[in-house]
Amino acid sequence: MWKIYKNGVNFEIARNKVIGGLKMNIDSIKNGYVIDHITAGKAMEIYEALGLNTLDCQVAIISNAKSQKTGKKDIIKIDKNIDLDLDKLGFMDPRVTVNIVKDDEIVEKKKIDLPEKIVNVAKCKNPRCITSVERDLDQVFILTDKLNSIYRCKYCEMSLK
Ligand SMILES: [Zn+2]
Repeated sequence: MWKIYKNGVNFEIARNKVIGGLKMNIDSIKNGYVIDHITAGKAMEIYEALGLNTLDCQVAIISNAKSQKTGKKDIIKIDKNIDLDLDKLGFMDPRVTVNIVKDDEIVEKKKIDLPEKIVNVAKCKNPRCITSVERDLDQVFILTDKLNSIYRCKYCEMSLK
């Protein structure tokens, strides 16, 4: 089950919002993750890319929450210890922070950054690349220029973007 809070509803208001007759306390993550400081408007994309729509646990998406740093941000809360793909997350939005929650308490804050390598996250667009012939090969990209967030295909060196 999951709920979306969007269009300017901030975290404080959404906290006790009544949706469909059910009061959902989105603060009550017992064991799981709070993905914080997501670029405003990106939560839905991340939600789908990480396969959170296939989970059977409670997932809350908070859009346009107030942020002191950036003005607005999105937040995703997952009430389960899933295998979170941090590389994919970092590739999509390198500024996020992942808070790990155990027994109602944040036990670890992970700053996510651009991963050095991404596997099967993006596809090489070079038609002559070996990955477009050998379909079984992993799509591997290496971060070659961190400043400009440039990734290059491990096989043909074509840059992503
Ligand atoms: Zn390639």
